[in-house]
Amino acid sequence: MAIMRQIAQMGQPVLRAVAARIPDPREPVVQSLIEDMLVTVADANGVGIAAPQVFESLALFIVASNLNPRYPQAPVMEPIAMINPELLWTSDEMIKDWEGCLSIPGLRGLVPRHTRIGVRYLTRTGEVREEEFVDFPARIFQHEFDHVRGVLFIDRIESTLEMVSEKEYLRRMYSHA
Ligand code: ZN
Repeated sequence: MAIMRQIAQMGQPVLRAVAARIPDPREPVVQSLIEDMLVTVADANGVGIAAPQVFESLALFIVASNLNPRYPQAPVMEPIAMINPELLWTSDEMIKDWEGCLSIPGLRGLVPRHTRIGVRYLTRTGEVREEEFVDFPARIFQHEFDHVRGVLFIDRIESTLEMVSEKEYLRRMYSHA
């Protein structure tokens, strides 16, 4: 049975460590970690979560793009676990857009990301999958991929003028709706 995990907050060393590869995704301990991460990210209204964010320094994350109060414009996708992820190629074109992080509550920042990427990962059944992501899902992948290498989105913000409180961010977003 899945349990909600505590989310590591910025300052916790686990968020700055390079996560270890997972030898076999089919191991029961990995499967139950995935179940826990799925309920944790859904409860927190996140669009992604990486294993280091639940205090497990493993190369695993969930991409769970979904409409929710924190990301009202996210495209709807079935949540997917990505294990031992690799970035195969990236577009030259980059775009800045707003990001937040469950480990850094209350803050949003403009982060430059590649608009299009090619990735490879293992599924939870151990299948190798190669995919191309564009726009918002590509952004989520890059954010979560950073987490398994100890990088946070604030590291990529180019100016403190491009940081806002989440409250202000949501006020702007809903007042334009
Ligand atoms: Zn994050």
